[in-house]
Amino acid sequence: MSDQRNFFVGGNWKMNGSKASIDGILQFLNEAKIPANTDVVCGPPTAYLSYVKERIQAGVQVSAQNCYKVAKGAFTGETSPAMLKDLRIGWVILGHSERRHVFGESDELIGEKVKHALDEGVKVIACVGETLGERESGLTEEVVFKQTKAIASNVSDWSSVVIAYEPVWAIGTGKTATPEQAQEVHLRLRAWLSDNVSPSVAASTRIIYGGSVNAKNCQDLATKPDVDGFLVGGASLKPDFITIINAKG
Ligand code: PEP
Repeated sequence: MSDQRNFFVGGNWKMNGSKASIDGILQFLNEAKIPANTDVVCGPPTAYLSYVKERIQAGVQVSAQNCYKVAKGAFTGETSPAMLKDLRIGWVILGHSERRHVFGESDELIGEKVKHALDEGVKVIACVGETLGERESGLTEEVVFKQTKAIASNVSDWSSVVIAYEPVWAIGTGKTATPEQAQEVHLRLRAWLSDNVSPSVAASTRIIYGGSVNAKNCQDLATKPDVDGFLVGGASLKPDFITIINAKG
């Protein structure tokens, strides 16, 4: 990781938790000392955003897991970036593979959401990643570049964007990309940013890895120069998350 880029660890709680279980997560998060060179963001379900925001230590930021592409209106069940801002939620995860594959979100919709969130001043963790079939067909680069292009063409302010490379075959499966596999894609993504956006954006944008990161594998992954942090699902619900936050230490 470059000195230009603070390490970044995000926790995606997905659709998990109750006030009682969240109290347990808050306890270990609030006891943790966050390393100075690391940004930590946790993403509770929408229903608990305020509950978490009101109780979490100042050193941990809070993210939504999704938002819609317009400010308000007849969109039952949706949440707007304006509402997130009203709750002082500074981040949103967009393009997660579960949004793409379970809810059928297209590159185009994800691009529109990225644009609107950034226009409203909400920072974005933008996810990209190939399926196992795509990897086995040699399409990893093509898929990841296409998804990144749909995001990049909607980015006005790169300092408000973190890219999460999350191979779909590694999410929630216990099958982690090797440090070499992660580094290879991150390096290519950074080269894509350099060629298609600018060398300075490529040098300063955090590219984090997600997919079955845990307390055991995080340190090896963190040694790779283009792995600037993690997006963590399952392990972000457990005290293991604190070990992952400290992976760079
Ligand atoms: C995720 O949900 O973004 C994720 C990477 O999940 P897990 O860590 O459980 O694979």
